[in-house]
Amino acid sequence: MLLFTPGPTPVLESVRQAMATVTLHHRTPEFEAIFEKARENLISMMGMEECIMLASSGTGAMQACMINLANSKVLTINSGKFGERFGKIADAMCIPKVELKYEWNTPASIADVEATLMANPDIDAICIQICESAGGLRHPVEEIAARVKEINPSIMVIADGITAVAVEPIDVSNIDALVTGSQKALMLPPGLAMIGLSSHAIEKIGNGKDYYFNLATEIKNQKKNTTAWTAATTLIAGLNAMFDEIEKEGGLDALYENTKKRANATSVALRAIGLEIYPTTPAMSMSTVYDDESEAIRKLLKNEYGVNIAGGQDHLKGKIFRINQMGLIPAYESVWVVNAVELALDKLGRRAFDGTASKVFSEVYFKSEI
Ligand SMILES: *Cc1c(COP(=O)(O)O)cnc(C)c1O
Repeated sequence: MLLFTPGPTPVLESVRQAMATVTLHHRTPEFEAIFEKARENLISMMGMEECIMLASSGTGAMQACMINLANSKVLTINSGKFGERFGKIADAMCIPKVELKYEWNTPASIADVEATLMANPDIDAICIQICESAGGLRHPVEEIAARVKEINPSIMVIADGITAVAVEPIDVSNIDALVTGSQKALMLPPGLAMIGLSSHAIEKIGNGKDYYFNLATEIKNQKKNTTAWTAATTLIAGLNAMFDEIEKEGGLDALYENTKKRANATSVALRAIGLEIYPTTPAMSMSTVYDDESEAIRKLLKNEYGVNIAGGQDHLKGKIFRINQMGLIPAYESVWVVNAVELALDKLGRRAFDGTASKVFSEVYFKSEI
């Protein structure tokens, strides 16, 4: 079965092997050396002052940022499940919030953010997804962050990059916290969350807040290549193996380039067989199709062609399907997937199969110079 859901993503054999070694104690020079390498790789990939690893799923890192960086009022952007989650975290943590809500295919508007900040001068943090995975939508985070900092440089910009980090280059000049998780583009099992931090964020964290998610305690420890609590040792060893794999395939720039080419070729191929791409500004991390027969297509892919893709949630349940583009994916697998979608349309009596999807994919992927 090909796992083509936008998280979790498959784990490469070499990474599985690296995680199959004997358990190291986390307070040893041996593990500290592994931690240091992972830390250096993360800081360099994110291009930020600091990067903290937490033993938690991605949501834990979202919560850690909110608790440690939002004091008076937070602005949350809700264009889907994950943006909604930031709002729910604020409610659970009793942090006053203002929420900007959009349809799941619609990116946040800079003008709306501007107006909200003007009307609420007590807002001291904004939380936004770079890619809102609920609909595969790319928010204009860099532009929003730049405008936020023009209005008030002390407002913290918390960016959920869980389906953007290791997918595409991100301009972090105006981002204070960049969240990611292990089970998406970094192709690891779930359980490791990472937060890149700006020097402004480190300053604002001060002595930190919360107990488990106290970022000040973590910064202090992680600078010394150790963690406040028991580290996710196995996943961190796996992360280093994954960075080695990325390096072997030409480094991060090659990964970004390849992801973009695959995502672009997939969406052109799907359009060529009459399908509709859902978001108005699609992210590179996944290809999202709006289709009333999404569930039937997914079922055929799984049962007949051995491909597991994701559906939609809430009001988009049964209305969309999502194909992963994150990670080191060989192009022949993506060709298989678009071909399987075309075969499914034939089975549903929508369109006679003639190989258009795989042909178009190959033309775009192998010939284009994007
Ligand atoms: C997957 C994902 C998360 C994290 O979810 P967890 O299940 O807590 O790891 C957060 N934000 C986005 C945009 C995601 O895609």
